Amino acid sequence: MNRRDFFWTTSAAASALFLSGRWSHGMILDRETIQKNVARAKLRFATYWGRLFPAENDRDRLKKMRELGMEAIEISGNGEALKEKLPMFRDEGFVVCSISVGSGGATIVSEDPSRRPAGIDAAKKALENAGFFGAKAVIYVPAFNGATKLPPVEIRKILMDTLPMLGEFALQHNTCLVMEPLTRNESWFLRQVADAAQIAKDTGSEGIGTMGDFYHMASEEPSDMGAFIAGGKYIKHVHLGNGPQPPRRTLPGEDDRPFVDGFRGLKYIGYDRFCSFECGVHAPDKFEAVKRSIAFCKSEWEKADVWGC
Ligand code: MG
Repeated sequence: MNRRDFFWTTSAAASALFLSGRWSHGMILDRETIQKNVARAKLRFATYWGRLFPAENDRDRLKKMRELGMEAIEISGNGEALKEKLPMFRDEGFVVCSISVGSGGATIVSEDPSRRPAGIDAAKKALENAGFFGAKAVIYVPAFNGATKLPPVEIRKILMDTLPMLGEFALQHNTCLVMEPLTRNESWFLRQVADAAQIAKDTGSEGIGTMGDFYHMASEEPSDMGAFIAGGKYIKHVHLGNGPQPPRRTLPGEDDRPFVDGFRGLKYIGYDRFCSFECGVHAPDKFEAVKRSIAFCKSEWEKADVWGC
């Protein structure tokens, strides 16, 4: 081993170990695998339907999204209301990448067992609709703060009893139920990517995953790169947004929140799914602001060198 390889091997392993903080998911990979992952990784943009910038009509919105280089649409809710738009989305060359169903009132983990079946049915409906759209992720928040009186240990037990079945149901519809960790202001139960990845792993189902939202990660993760490496194969989606400084959760590039560290982690794990804008736009010309933000993200992606790979 020459000096460069020795340095590369030791620094890569040590950094990944240090940053991931957990051995159970974090992949300490050999250089060849990292090189393949970096080559596979892509920065692909999406956003919630109807948000970010104004448009005259649906076709105009899709035209502007295409001009920005966006490829996919994220849907808020269970997707039912937008089913009739799918032919138009496809006609314009877009895919629906994800459905964000929220917590469904946290009924799956309600302290009242009689409410839980309704939560399960709501999750199944969103998963079915994801199958209809061809969306690969249904984003799910197990418990917002105050939504259930149960302690975290009990919430986790219920999830372990429920998610394996929902994961298999998701696979039947060619999608995945993706738990989203949030800032502690919104959910103390699930704040960090590694924790969500462990829950996904414990379910034993490939139909359960997690994701990283740069906005929430700014408050909860000591390292964006470490978080994504720890999440590893369980990372099924990414949300783009700035940090918590006022005006919080605005476009990437509009404050000093860096993205290089996180993008380096996404390259390390070979992430090639979508990064979806989930943030506000405060500039007067919203379309031009999004364009600047996309240029910023691309620049950060280019800077995200993974140890020379
Ligand atoms: Mg989010």
